[in-house]
Amino acid sequence: MKIADKTTSAVSLVKEALEKAKKYENKNIFVFLNEENALKRAKEIDEKIARGEEVGRLAGVPYALKDNFLSKEGRTTASAHILEPFEAPINSTTVKKLENEGAIMIGRANLDAFAHGSSTENSYFGPTKNAKDDERVAGGSSGGSAVSVALDIVQFATGTDTGGSIRQPASFNGIYGFKPTYGTISRYGVVAMASSTDCIGFFTKSTEDMDLLMEICSGQDENDLTTLPDYYIKSEVKKVQKIGIIKDFDNEKVAPEIRNALKNKVELLKSKGYEIVDLEMPALKYALAVYYIVVPAEVASNLSRYDGIRYGFRSEEAKNLDEIFAKSRGEGFMSENKRRIMIGNFVLSSGFYDAYYLKAQKARTKIIEEYNNAFSKVDFILTPVSPNPAFKLGEKVNDPVSMYLEDVMSVPINLAGVPSLTVPAGKTEEGLPLGLQLVGPRRSDKTLLSFANELKEESDV
Ligand code: GLN
Repeated sequence: MKIADKTTSAVSLVKEALEKAKKYENKNIFVFLNEENALKRAKEIDEKIARGEEVGRLAGVPYALKDNFLSKEGRTTASAHILEPFEAPINSTTVKKLENEGAIMIGRANLDAFAHGSSTENSYFGPTKNAKDDERVAGGSSGGSAVSVALDIVQFATGTDTGGSIRQPASFNGIYGFKPTYGTISRYGVVAMASSTDCIGFFTKSTEDMDLLMEICSGQDENDLTTLPDYYIKSEVKKVQKIGIIKDFDNEKVAPEIRNALKNKVELLKSKGYEIVDLEMPALKYALAVYYIVVPAEVASNLSRYDGIRYGFRSEEAKNLDEIFAKSRGEGFMSENKRRIMIGNFVLSSGFYDAYYLKAQKARTKIIEEYNNAFSKVDFILTPVSPNPAFKLGEKVNDPVSMYLEDVMSVPINLAGVPSLTVPAGKTEEGLPLGLQLVGPRRSDKTLLSFANELKEESDV
């Protein structure tokens, strides 16, 4: 990811990226194009290079920023009406680190409002379309980011993954998407969804690019006390021998193409001499229910700050303070946001706390134990990311439960806080991309990214 060979310039890279972004306007990838600032930055970088000055490891590389990262360039909307007139006073830690290395943000990418969703159809600005098929969803919530990389508009994009929002759109669009170990990258300056499962990560077309982004963006941050000490840059790649397959996920609820993709990769690994181990992880069947209790509880709390006074949008019809709260929230949130606020307040209410929230937390501990146990037997686990390839726009958006069911294989990983990478794994007969996820124990991120190359085949792209 460098322009140091001088065969091109930052300005031409940025111009090219902006042109491509405009060419794909119908896909609704960006909520804002950062044209002026991006070109200004690119010019500065070219001037530095001409003067022979040091430039960063990402000098002149255009990228897309999911619009829930605070940046001083353009407004941060989280694709929600309620944040629409909000201008961030700071840059998030990730933006700061990327830009210190010379990366150039060419636009802010569309998402499900507040990252609530699995298709990017819950955006106030309308859905993003799949890179390969205009009638299908991009996946979500980081749909804009995934499609911007899949269509080669940018070399990488940022994402957030609370329950699959990086991995699922990566698999729907045939690229790499990485959710690191919880706490590896600072969440400072990112619009919070569920603080105990939110992770920052990236979309790329290679594991080498992903590794570089991890080297740059991981590390302890005094502004996010859940960040881990700087383990990533100190990690060494370890030897891998055993790969686990979860028997509980091999069932008729998973599309045959995805089961086939898994079988093919298992054969590939066997042919390379890796040992395949069948795992029983029965507690995972509770993960979806646990997730849709714990996450709404945290969502309700994190979204309580949007009151029509402190940030962004305020209803013009409000006549008194109560009405400012009620009408601004009523008009400003999307229905999926409201659904989660209601579920969250319900499971936290005094009459139901023990029956729902407390029980879900106990089940979460069981899920964590189950992963610990699995990783005492295997180095990594290979599983589907979601039960289906990209579905049709409109197919599930009015049926929240069927949308939630799409998350059944991605959410357990967030509850356990372990790292997981979506790897491309071929296509359906119609040409829709398929992906699988490689899951590792906490802090195995570096080895995981390196091992993923063992799964790579020509037919994947
Ligand atoms: N699809 C999941 C949800 O709607 C995950 C979202 C995310 O990771 N931000 O909760």
